Amino acid sequence: MSAQRPVTRFSLDLWMSFFCRSMGLPIPMLQAHAVAQMMCSCKIFFLDPQGDHVLACKKHTGATRGHNHVIDVLVQLIRNTGYSVRVNHKVSMMAAASNKQGDVDLVNFGLDGFNNLVIDVSICCDHISNSTVNNRHLNGKMHTNDYLQARARVKNNRYKEDYAAVGTVFAPAIVSVAGQIHPKFLRLLWVLADKQTRNYCALISAEEEIGSQAFT
Ligand SMILES: [Zn+2]
Repeated sequence: MSAQRPVTRFSLDLWMSFFCRSMGLPIPMLQAHAVAQMMCSCKIFFLDPQGDHVLACKKHTGATRGHNHVIDVLVQLIRNTGYSVRVNHKVSMMAAASNKQGDVDLVNFGLDGFNNLVIDVSICCDHISNSTVNNRHLNGKMHTNDYLQARARVKNNRYKEDYAAVGTVFAPAIVSVAGQIHPKFLRLLWVLADKQTRNYCALISAEEEIGSQAFT
């Protein structure tokens, strides 16, 4: 995240939502909907003031926007690291007759025996029963088992083997609406941060060499 980069910069409403979620407070914009008992377009749940349902319901555009935001930020991080990247419909297809695709494709990622790394981004909800059970409102019960791993298993079953057949590694990138990050995704972020740091250090030392030559 950088204040100078428009793609990764938090807007004011995003900061507000982030802090409200971090502290467990209702998000002001959603609180108004919750008080008015606004029904989600799925026609099953009311909108909750924490934003859990909006971010996780496939029928609500908030879920798509949240998903796309994570992809945008991830793609920017990958490009800043120096990798070529393909997004959405440009991502490599899987083998066989399947027309399934992941979300992000790192071209020539450098893993032994594989050309590319395809990532599928997914946001899941920390609350049990998709945030609402008790009279269609949050019941306050959170998952205590490894729900991020469960989502990763579903994604791996769907993509991993078919991508391996075309020489491509697959990895799920899973975050929760409460800010949890699945270990595989966290490891990828670490690898990108490490590569950026190495690139920066190489650039600094190269500049020092040029500088020292200029003054000798
Ligand atoms: Zn819904």
